[in-house]
Amino acid sequence: MTAPAWWIFSGRKLLIRDDAFEGERRTGLLPVVPLDLDASLELRIEVPPVGLGLRAEPAQALHAPEPPDPPPGFQWVELRAAAAALDDDAFRRAGRAWQFLEWRRTHRFCGVCGAPTAPGPRGALQCPACDHLHFPRLSPAVIVVVHRGDEIMLGRNPAFPEGMFSTLAGFVEPGESLEAAVHREIREEADVEVAPPVYFGSQPWPFPHSLMVGFFAEWRSGAPRPADGELEAVGWFHRSDLPRLPGSVSIARHLIERWREGLLPG
Ligand SMILES: [Zn+2]
Repeated sequence: MTAPAWWIFSGRKLLIRDDAFEGERRTGLLPVVPLDLDASLELRIEVPPVGLGLRAEPAQALHAPEPPDPPPGFQWVELRAAAAALDDDAFRRAGRAWQFLEWRRTHRFCGVCGAPTAPGPRGALQCPACDHLHFPRLSPAVIVVVHRGDEIMLGRNPAFPEGMFSTLAGFVEPGESLEAAVHREIREEADVEVAPPVYFGSQPWPFPHSLMVGFFAEWRSGAPRPADGELEAVGWFHRSDLPRLPGSVSIARHLIERWREGLLPG
């Protein structure tokens, strides 16, 4: 029996071992030994041990409103930054724990009748007063490599680190297919029309509760320009002269690398 994994968060900060950033990314930093957090602890949950591609193992997630002093050998790091220290499996499990924790923290009362919610079946919350079931919130978003021969269209959000460009992305709206969302987002953000998109893959992205669905789409018409104000710059980049790109943990980077290698599906 695997020892329980303890995911200890404060806001988006995760408590991990100091040595997690040394050398190769590792899984050895888990489980974290539970701390005496009773005084500062706001919420403690069991993370449901089910999930596609995840090992079924006991896990608990804890949230402290204010980060207490870390014990010797540990530090608080932003979950996004922790991606550099965790392997893909550990990062997925950390993200899953954080998403459940954050959802539970922000859904303490039933949206139908206002009564306090309680843990229900399979990780859901159930209202003891009206029986309404509440499920974790997931927000699908499309993320797209628009390509034209040896060029790729990348955009720059003002919140990006200096010099970084990435693929265009946006949330799917109610009543919309993934494919329709691709066409709408590229049109809204860059005033460009694309061919029918080709599916690449997907990635859970716990910032805060997205499911990123990646596509390739060939350019059809239009000169890219920041159309709706979301991007401060958007344009074509040649395969041999790409700007600073997102980190290797992101599906954006996987999409770009796949295109750079010339391995497009379809
Ligand atoms: Zn209710």
